[in-house]
Amino acid sequence: MTTSDSSSSAPEGAFLDLWYQERHNDEIALGLHVKSVLHSVQSPFQRVDILDTTGFGRIMTLDGLMMVTERDEFVYHEMIAHVPLLVHPNPKRVLVIGGGDGGTLREVLRHDSVQEAVLCEIDGEVVEAARKYLPFVATGLNHPRAKIHIGDGVDFVKKSDAGSFDLVIVDSTDPIGPGVGLFSGSFYKEVRRILRPGGIAMAQCESPWENAIDLKKVYGNLKDAFASVYAMTGTIPTYPFGYWSWAFASDTAHPFEKIELDRAHAIEKATRYYNTDMHRGAFALPNFLKQRLKGVVSNA
Ligand code: SAM
Repeated sequence: MTTSDSSSSAPEGAFLDLWYQERHNDEIALGLHVKSVLHSVQSPFQRVDILDTTGFGRIMTLDGLMMVTERDEFVYHEMIAHVPLLVHPNPKRVLVIGGGDGGTLREVLRHDSVQEAVLCEIDGEVVEAARKYLPFVATGLNHPRAKIHIGDGVDFVKKSDAGSFDLVIVDSTDPIGPGVGLFSGSFYKEVRRILRPGGIAMAQCESPWENAIDLKKVYGNLKDAFASVYAMTGTIPTYPFGYWSWAFASDTAHPFEKIELDRAHAIEKATRYYNTDMHRGAFALPNFLKQRLKGVVSNA
């Protein structure tokens, strides 16, 4: 976090003016004005911070990297959950890997067909911090149909029975630290094994503008495991470059040819970003991204 001396606006001397800054790389950064620091803890995996900000409400950062803000989290959580859940004809059992803030779980559990949503989060401190400071996302963590497991998602998937889930959502941190394994080909092959026929895997896949990550490899690892992979994009102001991507992977399902419209219209009553137009439109890719993912994703 950086402070700046705003004495120019305070003639009788400087005062503390706190800003959270995330340097996406050595070229571009995000800055949010901070009102107060609500929580800071070093877990065995990462530093967990909860800040109250002037423009984006409460935010969670992990090792200083932006994870969730009160103002724009709905974009990410609605799209990663409702797109696959409204393509699958009858999703009953869902697995969320990561997602310890509860936002994805909150959206998954809007679907009455889901009998059980299991969350496997490696860091219990994230879950506790969300429960205490981020009620707007933590509702998912306390839901009666939610089952919270604290552990490594790679191990959890390996130990899960074949054909035990209709949907697996990988709501992970970046491919660094404990998150690395969640982007590997071997992990995605295990994800495919635990999916039922007609199952779908959804994974957050970083920013299309990010050059430091080999996006073709990330999506290619999914393509090694599934018959088809599609790239989906959306705008998230506080994520690196403000433009994000997710992967939709399946052996049989198409991401937008057939949307369960009755269920979608019911869900749309509660959403602030998702609707069936945004669902379809999210799979239209700009040319620079098509070129980056040509030969790997089916919509490039
Ligand atoms: N859902 C939020 C959003 O809007 O994008 C942020 C993602 S969520 C906070 C990412 C979570 O993945 C973190 O809580 C992190 O602890 C968890 N994670 C990282 N590696 C993991 C692993 N190997 N197994 C399970 N969870 C993991």
